[in-house]
Amino acid sequence: MSDAIGGKNDSSRQRGSRDQTGPHDRGSEDVTGEAICPYCGVGCRLVARARNGRVISVRGAADAAANHGRICPKGATLAQVIDTPDRAIAPLIREDRSRPFRAVSWDEANRFLADRLNAIIAENGPSAFGFYGSGQLDTEAAYCAARFVKGGLKTNNTDSNSRLCMASAVAGYRSSLGSDGPPPCYADIADASVILILGSNMADAHPVTFEFVRAKKRVQPETFIIVVDPRRTRTARFADLYVQIRPGSDVAFLNAIAYFLVTRGLIDHRFVRESTTGFDELADDLESQNVRDLAAVCGVEPGALLTLADRIGTAGRFLSFYGMGINQSAAGVDKNNCILNLHLITGQIGKKGAGPFSLTGQPNAMGGREAGLLKDSLPGYRRVEQDEDRREMEDAWSLPPGSIESSPGLSAVKMFRSLAAGSLKAIWIAGTNPMVSLPDLNASRVGLENAELVIVQDCYYPTETSDYAHVILPAAQWIEKEGTSTNSERMVTYSERVLDPPGEARPDWRIFCGVAQSMGLPGFDFPDAAAVWDEFRQLTRGRVCDQSGMTAARLRRERSIQWPCPNESGPGAQRLYTDGRFPTPDGRARIFTRRHRTPGDPVCEQYPLVLTTGRLAAHWHTRTRTRHVELLERQEPEPFLEINPTDAVVRAIQDGDIVEVRSRRGLLKTRARISTAPAPGTVFAAFHWGDRFRVYASANALTPAELDPVSDQPEYKYCAVEVRACTIERGDDTAAQDI
Ligand code: SF4
Repeated sequence: MSDAIGGKNDSSRQRGSRDQTGPHDRGSEDVTGEAICPYCGVGCRLVARARNGRVISVRGAADAAANHGRICPKGATLAQVIDTPDRAIAPLIREDRSRPFRAVSWDEANRFLADRLNAIIAENGPSAFGFYGSGQLDTEAAYCAARFVKGGLKTNNTDSNSRLCMASAVAGYRSSLGSDGPPPCYADIADASVILILGSNMADAHPVTFEFVRAKKRVQPETFIIVVDPRRTRTARFADLYVQIRPGSDVAFLNAIAYFLVTRGLIDHRFVRESTTGFDELADDLESQNVRDLAAVCGVEPGALLTLADRIGTAGRFLSFYGMGINQSAAGVDKNNCILNLHLITGQIGKKGAGPFSLTGQPNAMGGREAGLLKDSLPGYRRVEQDEDRREMEDAWSLPPGSIESSPGLSAVKMFRSLAAGSLKAIWIAGTNPMVSLPDLNASRVGLENAELVIVQDCYYPTETSDYAHVILPAAQWIEKEGTSTNSERMVTYSERVLDPPGEARPDWRIFCGVAQSMGLPGFDFPDAAAVWDEFRQLTRGRVCDQSGMTAARLRRERSIQWPCPNESGPGAQRLYTDGRFPTPDGRARIFTRRHRTPGDPVCEQYPLVLTTGRLAAHWHTRTRTRHVELLERQEPEPFLEINPTDAVVRAIQDGDIVEVRSRRGLLKTRARISTAPAPGTVFAAFHWGDRFRVYASANALTPAELDPVSDQPEYKYCAVEVRACTIERGDDTAAQDI
């Protein structure tokens, strides 16, 4: 499956485009530069040292608020992911998938894309095109993509893989608090008295932030740590109180906690009266529910729920962290609303050591949202449905009134469904590998097979997704480009360029601008990344995510500033909503009444177990980077299925056996790992592996494409399966040899 054109890389580093500034490598002289880590949303700032065109060391930046010099094994081994044999180094084109790729110049690639996109749009209209980006793109790239697609091509069909991890957190914040954006900051860990970690294996997925929690517990052992998760993870093992709820029962669990808070009078009535609406409706609804029924749904004794509620209700400072266990659900927005309810009814928001903190998955998932990459957003957290917001952007982009579509575009999963149905003809995929990460992979694959034009922009080639491409666009990656990212705590960090990109690889923002200019679209002649940033940050003036005070020059001096930061000489703000006012029409936050819903892929006699999927400490997303790091590969060399001994014994499965996992949609063949981490009835698999590792290696062949009705985020945490012992047949592992 590999293709020599893109897969070959000259280890001496051919020089790429020269249009960037920064302390880039000057031969044998050592050069250092700082950049945000390209993996998780903790957003550690790292210091890279390079010599002779290679990164020779990576360490944490001591003065970075996100990490204070700390670093995890993925960040520490970044030097090994840059000069790999599979770096994409030249634009590649093939007219149809039966032909081999040919390497072309950027001019030819841009002309080809301009002609093909113009033809498809002329024949089918702008909505025949979709852009699917990523939280890996820096803000400059996300802004250029949003401007190109929404303002230039005139379709709102832009979405990001943030749809798969953060969309429900966004919709939860927007509906409850009036705007997206986590209210607390990492420094709040030091002041919290009770920390609730819900649906997040922070120890593995956000390791440096979890280190701050551990350090806090060491210094102040009276800090009470509660972990709620269906799987007894490394995070759970650290807890003072671990609650193993059933998969999919979070709303029932959170309602039970709210019930006890209300009935025991652990409510901040003043905050509720002055800063919220909806409390009476919630209290009435909770009273009408039987708390024993709620406890039975989540499989927890009512006494444990009462203890937990007392801890939260009497906490001086209550901080919660939550992640994919909450968001990756067909009821993800409801779950987010219920967590926010707990903070609103107890007044634990907008003050030191308190608040609801949704852990962002990727380094710039936040920045993409701020820049307008999602299907319903415009730069500065504007919304396509709002007339005034569209008018402001049309003015800013010198477009005639009515140029920007007023209805949201297609979300991630719906784009692939529309490709399969034929209403979407072309897709541009940048910085992500959906042929491993999308749910119900077999159905999603049909979409790409059916597409007339598939453009894949990535720093690696080949990937599972590029197998379907007509065009490959080589992107510069971490430390090869300058750009800006926003981490989980709203900290905007500038990343420097230390190396030249390999071959013809370019920064993502320049790739979008090149095609836009070839299509004759005005406004894409930015001289450099700083000019892109300065245009974007001025569009945030007066918005919740105000970054107008962070000039490009200031970010290059100060490196990291937290938003909102409206003043060029003033600091950023650590916390949101400190005055008890929220960006809603009446200034009050909304307390919502939500009810438990049964997950849509129910267990039955044929599929009696619940599969929940997730991440491992050693790998990142679809392993395009981490598979190059020997240390990480040694830790987790292959996919596995965690299964409780009770479920294993009735199926005659031994530890290490190869098992076949079937759902209503697909098949996974993997190795059994017998473990008490999942409760009986639940199994766990990581989603990192794809078809290029081995046929039937993808956990997402099993997962359903059921979406949250508000956020369109897919359900990855509740999938009915059956497991049985089997063998990997001859031929199943041939794909592994290609990578
Ligand atoms: Fe990178 Fe996240 Fe590790 Fe920090 S914790 S070094 S951001 S992977």
